[in-house]
Amino acid sequence: MAALNEFELIDRFFRRAEKRTTSAHGVALGIGDDAALLSPTPGCQLAASVDMLVAGRHFFADVDPEALGHKTLAVNLSDMAAMGATPRWALLAGALPDADPRWLEGFARGFFALADAHGVDLVGGDTTRGPLNLCVTILGEVPAGEALLRGGARAGDSIWISGTLGDASLALAHREGRLVLSSDEAAACEKALLRPEPRVALGIRMRGLASAAIDVSDGLIGDLGHILAASKFGAVLDLALIPRSAALDRQLAGPSHDAALDCLLAGGDDYELCFTAAPSRDPRVAALAVELGLALHRVGSIVAEPGLTVRDASGRALAPLPRAYDHFAT
Ligand code: ADP
Ligand code: MG
Repeated sequence: MAALNEFELIDRFFRRAEKRTTSAHGVALGIGDDAALLSPTPGCQLAASVDMLVAGRHFFADVDPEALGHKTLAVNLSDMAAMGATPRWALLAGALPDADPRWLEGFARGFFALADAHGVDLVGGDTTRGPLNLCVTILGEVPAGEALLRGGARAGDSIWISGTLGDASLALAHREGRLVLSSDEAAACEKALLRPEPRVALGIRMRGLASAAIDVSDGLIGDLGHILAASKFGAVLDLALIPRSAALDRQLAGPSHDAALDCLLAGGDDYELCFTAAPSRDPRVAALAVELGLALHRVGSIVAEPGLTVRDASGRALAPLPRAYDHFAT
């Protein structure tokens, strides 16, 4: 097959049938001009966010391209979920080492499957040759004034976590030989690492219900820490209440306890939501879990005194707490 040039590549893999870019989706002009033209819904604010995934840092360069296409968009949808925004439009900037049609086809399949599931249109991007690097800009909408911010938590609020935490980093720990999973456990944890499900529906339903929210991308301690810093409060969590898989529980009970505790409290790549809500809302949050078919666990409370305390089963505070992931930590 003849090598693809830049514009053939965009046309073949990223520019889709015009029906996807009609005004019904708020796209007045999609891919093909110098900029897209979008028509936001009156009365809504735009939520804008960008996330970059770098080969060797955020994913292995030989990762299945379909899974990478999924994850490249998923991490951005997760930011929309954390704001309570409805994701609408995406732009994709990619540096690719070569124009490998097989790779591009898999990537586009994973990307568009998730985009279609959430009604998101790809409206533009940029494509260059270079070390593999993918960057998505996402635009979403939220009724004016209803976005979920980090700074809204108040003393006494309940702290909630969706799904389970730690499996994605458990998969990495297994790959790196820091602990050993059974093959079934490893497969389940790999799925959490490669195909995170952004909690978009939850984020939207939390408008007017949650007082603050964040997505857990760098580990619970660090990300809840951002809510505490923005809200100027502290928190007390019960370790036993933090939701985890059976695989992670098994590791906590064995010789790799410390590594597993790190995964649970400070592992990255979970893409679950951590949110706070007034305790009077506990029954509504519980009902929402049933309605969405998504586990929501209450793990502790916001307190007036600054600082984050995690209590073990006997009520003792864990110290020191595992450190959050930081790209520039030395
Ligand atoms: P310009 O030179 O004006 O930046 P480009 O030649 O880079 O335009 O891109 C042409 C069109 O293709 C633009 O509409 C741009 O948004 C779109 N585009 C480029 N790369 C991608 C991509 N990877 N995914 C989606 N759209 C893309
Ligand atoms: Mg360009």
